[in-house]
Amino acid sequence: MALKQLPIVPSGDPGGLAESANAGVQRINRPVISDATKIDPIVILFCPDGAISLDESGFVISYKFCKGCGICAKESEGIVMVPEYTGPKGIF
Ligand code: SF4
Repeated sequence: MALKQLPIVPSGDPGGLAESANAGVQRINRPVISDATKIDPIVILFCPDGAISLDESGFVISYKFCKGCGICAKESEGIVMVPEYTGPKGIF
């Protein structure tokens, strides 16, 4: 059985796999760039929702599409997960 030769690309356009209205709602933790100089650019490929991009100003995380899975923080230095609060601190 032949294996498919698939290109290595993000799994979708930004927001392509996430319902934008739900992305922030379901997040318990959010990724924050703590040190952009330590971020491995390949982390862009690991984000299942294409929420990380690189532009002329550097790495950008779109919180509209990020679901808070934490893969980026696990795969790269320079990104940490912090609690996401949607109300008074400690109350979700
Ligand atoms: S936590 Fe990181 S890997 Fe997960 S959706 Fe958000 S930006 Fe992408």
